[in-house]
Amino acid sequence: MSYFSPDYFTARSRWRAAASRLGCRLESHEIDAASPINDPLTIDIAIFGNPLAHKAMVISSGLHGVEGLFGSAVQLALLAQHLVADKFPSDVAVVMIHTLNPFGCAWYRRWNEDNIDLNRNFLVGDEVYQGAPSAYPLLDSFLNPQSPPNRLEPFLLKSLGLITKYGMSTLKNTLPVGQYDFPQGLFFGGNSQSQTQIILTAHLRRWLGLSQQVFHLDLHSGLGKWGTYKLFSKLTSDSPRCQLLDEYFDSDKILTIDADAAVYQPIGSFEKWCQVSFPDLTYDFLLAEFGTYSMLRVLKALRAENRAHWWGNPADKSYQEAKQELLEVFVPKSQQWRDLVLEQGIDLCLAGINMLC
Ligand SMILES: [Zn+2]
Repeated sequence: MSYFSPDYFTARSRWRAAASRLGCRLESHEIDAASPINDPLTIDIAIFGNPLAHKAMVISSGLHGVEGLFGSAVQLALLAQHLVADKFPSDVAVVMIHTLNPFGCAWYRRWNEDNIDLNRNFLVGDEVYQGAPSAYPLLDSFLNPQSPPNRLEPFLLKSLGLITKYGMSTLKNTLPVGQYDFPQGLFFGGNSQSQTQIILTAHLRRWLGLSQQVFHLDLHSGLGKWGTYKLFSKLTSDSPRCQLLDEYFDSDKILTIDADAAVYQPIGSFEKWCQVSFPDLTYDFLLAEFGTYSMLRVLKALRAENRAHWWGNPADKSYQEAKQELLEVFVPKSQQWRDLVLEQGIDLCLAGINMLC
């Protein structure tokens, strides 16, 4: 039996059934957004283990919508196969958040009901929902054409032209950074707090119960080499917390934010928000990113799907093809890919639980 589900509603009902069989405490929080069927979209939480535990493992997925069909498979496998009530450590609880962006998952989008990249929406302190990397306005007409997707368009030639004109590093330092000025564009961080953020603000503390120590694994897919993963951290490699993580995870896979690291640090990340929100807790966070296809293929799929969403007609073949390709670049159908990421995803969750013990 495959733990991967073809759509959000199937994934959610299988996950709910497995969580309730295991005796998890379940919650469901509705999102005010259009649903493709007559059934509301929800963020679902399952809490497993001792309600009085002092440590919590948080496993979240679907922050980027469609990627949730990968995260759901990992969570379902854990619920069905790996968490056993009478053999579980008494001082650890597992908090599973099934799909942080149910709209994106249900509609095969990376963005939410307000076109928001949720991992750019969690502003902290005096950060503001404004601005864009300086090259974004130059790329806007290429990234966000105001027309339905077109299969005959020479995407590769156009993107190679842009790479020649602006340089690969400009693209890499512009696209994933996020922007707050183009509400229909790719990588939009929003103009205000998302519904997801509001729900987390209201409830995450309660889900953590009495926990003083938290390890949070946020599951993603679509960036990196096929069937392998990297762990993104907001720590520097010489920090004591990072050295602890190195003991339980493959240190070669952990990417830190050392001053010499070339990775630009965007604002609005879920990780930073969690850590700022709970200064009284020891809150370790790793974003696990599982690779699929080349960056250009993923970008092409994101661009086509965004065009279909805003300018396409759901009855058109080009609309459906754009949705299917988006699903493929984030959750490939390949059995080999699925086997690889499922096994590694489960290992990461178990390593986190082990670390807390
Ligand atoms: Zn993601």
